Amino acid sequence: MLALAVRNLVKTYPNGVQALRGVDLEVPEGDFFALLGPNGAGKTTLIGIVTSLVTKTSGTVEVFGSSIDTALEQAKAHVGVVPQEININYWDSVYNIVTTQAGFYGMTPRQARERAEACLEQLQLWDRRRDSGRELSGGMKRRLMIARALMHQPRLLILDEPTAGVDIEIRRSMWEFLREINAAGTTIILTTHYLEEAENLCRHVAIIDHGQIVERDDMASVLRKLHAETFVLNLREAISTAPVLSGYSVERVHDHEIEVEVTKDQDLNEVFAGLSAAGLHVVSMRNKSNRLEELFLRLTAREPAE
Ligand code: ADP
Repeated sequence: MLALAVRNLVKTYPNGVQALRGVDLEVPEGDFFALLGPNGAGKTTLIGIVTSLVTKTSGTVEVFGSSIDTALEQAKAHVGVVPQEININYWDSVYNIVTTQAGFYGMTPRQARERAEACLEQLQLWDRRRDSGRELSGGMKRRLMIARALMHQPRLLILDEPTAGVDIEIRRSMWEFLREINAAGTTIILTTHYLEEAENLCRHVAIIDHGQIVERDDMASVLRKLHAETFVLNLREAISTAPVLSGYSVERVHDHEIEVEVTKDQDLNEVFAGLSAAGLHVVSMRNKSNRLEELFLRLTAREPAE
């Protein structure tokens, strides 16, 4: 069963901005999935459509088999969302904030009370239930938004930048919690600017850029790519085929140029030695910019938001 199936999704905002240009994305049930991409890539728009806050221009979205076009209420019931911006009512009590949410999903007062206790306990906020939103620390506000999103027991939890601006200790305890609920069966999709976060938590990853998915793979494969660097070497001698260097992937670009992929635990000296042994001399060398690598560099170099 797919938790999320997005097909050829297009969103053009009224001002003409094409935020999504035909997105295809599948997230299997039980997955822990990272949606990565630079600012303005279309992540929030995509999440907005899945959670019916944004109307799509065309394409289809199904959540656990329920289409947002033909079975919107079921689709909505399957999803819980934790937005990027803190959007709790600062003057309402913690308890009211979660029980009000229950009302939107047609839960009875009794169900709401039971779920409120369970969710607030789970996120260590039960003792703070009488406090108002403004009395909570930043980390508690984020936990409260998670508790609120879990009230109706969604099968899919979507978190938009859940730990932006949160200190490392709170980040780690949130990771722990997310891992637990994923292990208990909740499918999780998160967007993040922290590669470390995605690496620690997620099994699969999609990278979105300019409204299109540019990469979709398991996390280990993406990280392998990330750990490799491609060098372009200019040779004094002309070659008709790529030289063979044991352990390295070498490609001939033209007569005097080759590309060599070097992983972080390999050694460029070995490449030079191997070429030299084959009678080839390197005249100059440069990095080949790798789109994925660049994308990640941009992502990981960013300062935390807030
Ligand atoms: P991300 O979440 O990856 O940063 P967004 O989905 O917020 O990306 O934005 C994708 C593109 O759509 C950006 O160019 C952004 O400026 C534009 N955009 C987002 N929301 C609106 C809106 N309400 N009206 C017009 N353009 C928008």
